[in-house]
Amino acid sequence: MALVERQRFPRRKVCGECIAATNLPLLASLGVGEAFKALAGPELRRVTLLQGERSVTAELPAADHADFRWGRALGRETLDNLLLERARAAGASVFQPWAVQSILGAAGAWHCELRALETSVRLRLRASVVIDAHGSWEDLPTDRPRRRLARGAADLFAFKANFTGAAVPEGAISVLALDGGYGGMVVADGGITTVAGCIRRDRLGQLRAASPGLRAGEAVQAWMQQGCAGVHAALKGAERDGPWLTAGPLDPGMHVQARDGIFRIGNAAGEAHPILGEGMSMALQSAAMLCSILPARAHGVALPDGRAQADLQRRYAVAWRGAFAPRLRLAATFAHVAMRPRSAAVLMHVVQAWPGLLTRGARWGGKVRFAEPGPMSAPQPARSG
Ligand SMILES: Cc1cc2nc3c(=O)[nH]c(=O)nc-3n(C[C@H](O)[C@H](O)[C@H](O)COP(=O)(O)OP(=O)(O)OC[C@H]3O[C@@H](n4cnc5c(N)ncnc54)[C@H](O)[C@@H]3O)c2cc1C
Repeated sequence: MALVERQRFPRRKVCGECIAATNLPLLASLGVGEAFKALAGPELRRVTLLQGERSVTAELPAADHADFRWGRALGRETLDNLLLERARAAGASVFQPWAVQSILGAAGAWHCELRALETSVRLRLRASVVIDAHGSWEDLPTDRPRRRLARGAADLFAFKANFTGAAVPEGAISVLALDGGYGGMVVADGGITTVAGCIRRDRLGQLRAASPGLRAGEAVQAWMQQGCAGVHAALKGAERDGPWLTAGPLDPGMHVQARDGIFRIGNAAGEAHPILGEGMSMALQSAAMLCSILPARAHGVALPDGRAQADLQRRYAVAWRGAFAPRLRLAATFAHVAMRPRSAAVLMHVVQAWPGLLTRGARWGGKVRFAEPGPMSAPQPARSG
């Protein structure tokens, strides 16, 4: 088993870093539950929606589990490293910092071209099963022409920075409705505040044209602070810890399909607008779903050949859509409402009258129910010789 990661860890990453409680049993079963418990920020029990001068706070729903009720935030420099080290301890050969350049062949007989980023050494790995977990913000070399063609004014670019000394209430997720984008703020591990958000390409262009001296991240910070009183108050006495990081353009939508023989998890399978903070849930839960159908090498069974993989692919794609498509749709609706000042103002009126809608929204967005990969059990695999 090989794991290929192009960046050297630990590294910070563009992400709001809130892990929904639905993932905590999974993290525990992977052996990182205790570390998560020891390191993550305060339990997240409230959500605040902020727009312009206004804000509405509501309770978040507790997850439906006796031991894991509340989500928490943990920096990706810590979480991703914990998971990678568990994979190594479980026997994966880790290639890092190496990049997958291309994936050739067919299910059952793949050839993956890898390149070491520090030495440019190249290597070809043979594999029966390939799982694409490369996210959606960095193109595989083979995807670049398609992505270049798809550029548009409505593309979203993502930004994130950490702050010390910010006046953000502990235990609450702040969701920001901004003119031409949206964002979030939360207190994560070590009392550090994470501020992350997305902005349309055309809006970012306007901001940069209006303030040519500012870097993109600084322009985005000014946009957040000027457009939202809550962000202004939170960051007034704060100090940025490290640079603004950027990623994108985002690629929201379903990419999971059963055509090319490659299994996809996380953003590579489908990306939700991050306004619900469910992307890591979908990454972890889709990985668990796929593991529940792939026969485990550790149990001495042969890996499925191309034909068997085609069947598993179809079943995985169906299960993936059933589990995650509703979250994608809800996130897209919320994001498009939040990005437009008029619809966001209407939403604020509604939630001021009925704050429980935010609680309901979190429930509909997957914050309560645990992913149960059980029903996808694989057909009986052949014993290896
Ligand atoms: C602004 C913002 C805020 C967000 N907030 C939250 C939140 O609060 N909670 C939440 O759950 N989700 C949030 N998300 C979503 C979340 O960050 C993603 O959905 C999640 O990281 C997807 O995980 P992934 O493993 O699929 O991809 P990624 O986390 O993007 O990981 C992909 C990895 O693949 C590596 N890689 C890429 N290409 C190659 C290659 N060719 N070869 C080798 N390695 C490669 C990359 O280096 C990277 O480490 C947010 C996203 C944004 C943009």
